[in-house]
This record gives sequence, structure tokens and C-alpha cells, in this order.
Amino acid sequence: MKYCRFQHNGRSRYGLVERVAGRDTITQILLAAPEEFPRTNRTDDVTVYEVPMERIAPLPLDEAKLLPPVKPSKIVCVGRNYLAHIKELNHDVPKTPLIFFKPPSSLIGHDDVIFRPRISQRVDFEGELALVVGKRCKHLKPGQVVWPYILGWTIVNDVTARDLQEPEKQWTRAKGFDTFCPVGPVVVARDEVDPWVGVTVETRVNGVVKQHGTTEDFLFSIEDILVWITQAMTLEPGDLIATGTPEGVGPLLAGDVVEVEVSGIGTLRNRVEDEVIPAGGEQAGGEQAGDE
Ligand code: MG
Repeated sequence: MKYCRFQHNGRSRYGLVERVAGRDTITQILLAAPEEFPRTNRTDDVTVYEVPMERIAPLPLDEAKLLPPVKPSKIVCVGRNYLAHIKELNHDVPKTPLIFFKPPSSLIGHDDVIFRPRISQRVDFEGELALVVGKRCKHLKPGQVVWPYILGWTIVNDVTARDLQEPEKQWTRAKGFDTFCPVGPVVVARDEVDPWVGVTVETRVNGVVKQHGTTEDFLFSIEDILVWITQAMTLEPGDLIATGTPEGVGPLLAGDVVEVEVSGIGTLRNRVEDEVIPAGGEQAGGEQAGDE
């Protein structure tokens, strides 16, 4: 199962995405937030999502105005989770997962614009596989089966003001600008993507491949990450966890189009522009409360 969030008749709604005549197409509206779906496991491997839905006129995904497909209470990111990326930035290999937050106000959707802040001279892309939490959890234990706590998988671009990250111990500023967390275009159910086997994470800028990694090279597994995070904090349904970026990070310039493709999920695409602060004041980031 695959779903998105999109503008439909002036409202934000979750939509079921299915292949119709070779195209990803929104065919039904989900009448509940996905993380609230009643779920049953028929077997250990197959999850059945019992979602109330309403059929609509089919809308090709690439013609829809897409919104971030998640509404997380928090976005937890894992830094330095691929060895080759650690080496390219000359960092030490961490002995435990290294985590940080991005604020929900940094979220944007597929085809939204990434704005390069005026106070940064170096804004980098970081293509990443991301996990959407499906069930409240705290104090998960090593060796515990984590499947039940995962709703699905999506794509994040962990956009980073590299020149502000390097001199500051806390990464909140460098990672937290408005528009620095593109996510989407869809969420794919947990059974349909298997990072344990290895999924490909590829980032392209203006069509040129910049990053091409596989989650087989994770330093810390999905279990390690969930155990580590939940030692500290409760994860809520809908929370987003970005799992780190492979080697090949690099800068974005105004006019660039950056795409992050993760096998089994799709391609997250965003254009880049320089921030312009309007004379009348700031444009607020994030999203206003809407209907679902
Ligand atoms: Mg990252």
C-alpha cells in the first residue's frame, strides 16, 4: 500500500496511490489519518491496513498538488550512518548512533521550493531513507522485533547549511531552516520496502547522479536506531526518522533541481531558490492546520 497527502477541493487529504494504466494515480481518499489505521497482522510478514476510504475520480500523482505525507510531532535524524560519508567529511566513526532534530516547521512536500538562507553560503543536499512511526513506543530493547512500530517508509532530503554546521556543536540551526526537510512524495507500507536487505538511495542534481548508496552499508541498523532513540524519548505515531545519508553530499545553488530516489518508494523532487525576505516581514514556515 502506498499513500500521499494532497490538496483536494481546497482541503488537505490523504490519498491512496495505485498503478493505473502504468501511472501512479490517486484513486481513493483515506478517511482517517494513516497512523490511526486499525491494523491487523495476518502473518508475521504481511500487514493488513483496514482503512475507511472513499473513491474519487482518478488523479495522476504527478498532476496532484502534493503535501508532506506525514505530520510528525518530531523529526529525528541520524547523523553519520554510512562509513563512506563519515570519511568524506573527515569525521570519527561514532560508537553509538548520533541523533539530532529537525523542526516540523522545516517540512515541505514534493515539488515545493528549498530556499537557501541568506546567512549561509553553503547549502547541501543529503538524500535519505526515512521511517514513519506507526505505534507509540518507549524503551525498545535490543533484539526486540521492531516491525510493529513502523508504519512505513518515505524519502527525506536532510538539507543542511554546511558552513553553519561545522563551527556549531548543536546542529539545530544548520539543519532547522524553513524548507530544509523535503519529504515524500509518498509513504510506502512497511512490508513493501526492506532496508535490511538493502535499498538504493540515489541523489541527482539537475539529472547528474551525486549520491548512490545502499542501506546495506548502514553503520547502525533500524533496530539500533529505534532502541537508541526510545531510550530517551517516546516516539509517537507519525513521527519521522531519517536514517542518514550515503557519501557524495554536495552544494545546491539557486535554479538547481534536486531529486532523491529510493528504490521501492519513488523520487522526491524539489527546486532550489535563494531566500528573499519580503519588505513586509517574514513568511512563516511549516503548514497551517488543515482538514484530513
Ligand atoms: Mg543527514
